[in-house]
Amino acid sequence: MTAAPRLFAFNCGWFQCRPGYFVESDTGDYLRGPVPAYLVDHPKGRMVFDTGMGVRYRRELADALPPGKFGLEWFEGMDIAARLKAIDIDPASINWIVNSHLHIDHCGGNAHLPNATVLIQRREWDAAQTMAEPGLYEALDYDTGQPLRLIDGEHDLFGDGTVRIVPTHGHTHGHQSVIVRLPAGEVLLAADCCYTERNLDLMVLPRATQDVEQGLITFERLARLRAAGTHILFGHDGRQWATVTENVPLFEKAS
Ligand SMILES: [Zn+2]
Repeated sequence: MTAAPRLFAFNCGWFQCRPGYFVESDTGDYLRGPVPAYLVDHPKGRMVFDTGMGVRYRRELADALPPGKFGLEWFEGMDIAARLKAIDIDPASINWIVNSHLHIDHCGGNAHLPNATVLIQRREWDAAQTMAEPGLYEALDYDTGQPLRLIDGEHDLFGDGTVRIVPTHGHTHGHQSVIVRLPAGEVLLAADCCYTERNLDLMVLPRATQDVEQGLITFERLARLRAAGTHILFGHDGRQWATVTENVPLFEKAS
């Protein structure tokens, strides 16, 4: 019998955004959102899903959070390599990087995982080339020289159904998510196909959606999966993140 994969979560930096960024009509205080990365430690290899921001965006404490403006709490020690080392995982031991999409806060740490093969939807790779824009799609983050495998649609990473890459287009043209099957049930790592639980509860896409039609199809799929018992970890949900324990296998009973 193969052992089950283990799933770990890391926040690789907080960002601060205007109240209506996730749900346009919301008002109130500026919100904080995590920049998550995940490790799936599988008997056949190690995969990291999303790698956070490039170190060039790191801040000093003094200019981290300007009041009433976009800001980052992104300090030394929060990058994916440091987060892995902190739980005794060598960044060089990572076999696969799956990037949900190629925005700078999802692939900025790819360079720190030198021996990984990068898996991206072909249409996302193409979108990044044609929509290159500083602060959004930067080749510096995603074109870092590791072997690249472009995929079209679903992909079963280890061939045993425990780690499935699924297309979740909308936020970007080639966005993808990962469904991890753990002994406790299925967990969907949403990334930016759904920023927060509140977006899904209200079925409201954020303004930052490249393809609204596809985005709604994705939301309907997420709603169905959630109703069937899949646990969804949302892309930048500060409220949900308060319930996530970093650095330990998720959804496992403490022994
Ligand atoms: Zn994005």
